[in-house]
Amino acid sequence: MNTAFTLLIVDDEKRNRSLLTELLQGDYRIILAKNGEQALERAREHHPDLILLDVLMPDRDGYAVIRELKNDDQTRDIPVIFVTALDSAGDEERGLELGAVDYISKPFNPAIVRVRIRNHLQSVQQRRLLEQLAMLDSLTGIPNRRRFTKVFEQEWRRGMRDGTPISLIVVDVDHFKAYNDTYGHAAGDEVLRLIARTLQDALRRPGDFVARYGGEEFVILLPGITSEGARALAEQARADVEAKHITHAVSDVGPYVTISMGGATCEAVAAADQDLDLFRLADAYLYEAKHGGRNRVAWAPEG
Ligand code: GH3
Ligand code: MG
Ligand code: MG
Repeated sequence: MNTAFTLLIVDDEKRNRSLLTELLQGDYRIILAKNGEQALERAREHHPDLILLDVLMPDRDGYAVIRELKNDDQTRDIPVIFVTALDSAGDEERGLELGAVDYISKPFNPAIVRVRIRNHLQSVQQRRLLEQLAMLDSLTGIPNRRRFTKVFEQEWRRGMRDGTPISLIVVDVDHFKAYNDTYGHAAGDEVLRLIARTLQDALRRPGDFVARYGGEEFVILLPGITSEGARALAEQARADVEAKHITHAVSDVGPYVTISMGGATCEAVAAADQDLDLFRLADAYLYEAKHGGRNRVAWAPEG
């Protein structure tokens, strides 16, 4: 039914693993672990959507396993349901306090186990959907500033690890206030959508990234290419927007809507706030582009 979900079943007794597998394998992809160590290993490797965790196991018991899961960024968010023969209220409380989302006691009622698991996975799906929506700009449908901040941090770390450069471009629509005043806010919104799409179409490599930073400003992140390559892409994107021929009768730049861009390239280094410095640098060059007459790309010299 919903094999898009993966469940990790952890139990030291083969019989229990088989029972749960039989019960659930028609609906989900099942991964098994027979002790705590295997559970942690497989949770990190497969990143399951839900873990059914036996409490009583030799060596590491379920309480120890959930503690380690919650201590690891990679596994912290995976919901855990305790499955156990214990059924005192104290054990249940302890499990829930350690961060389990639910508690099922053995021997279990198959129908109830199924429904509970389905309900928890529905919450997982809803949470993911909300997380995704929270990362998208509602007007243009492209990633928003929050998403950009995350991706920028990730790419910065990758750049430090691989020793590759990162380019950042700040984009601003020219005379957009005048556009809104002349054609109305709804027409302005349409222009922002079209520009977002045009910028996105200008991207070339899988790591290239564009976001709406806010208002009529966008940011483009280009990891792993030279400043010449990044600059050429910026120039192309600028030309692409101009070539859309969106009439802007009150712009002193020309007859159409245009954008200005400031860009900078640097090596990712571990100094504090270096990524913010790159942003400030690109933003400073956006100012140069505006003062140089708009509808142009200004690039910070490398050094
Ligand atoms: P410059 O060339 O110097 O960038 O001039 P500008 O008029 O584009 O700059 P300014 O910062 O003065 O104005 C930005 C305008 O962008 C003002 C605001 O109404 C418009 N704007 C910001 N967000 C949106 C939006 O979501 N929709 C629409 N339609 N307009 C927006
Ligand atoms: Mg602006
Ligand atoms: Mg502007």
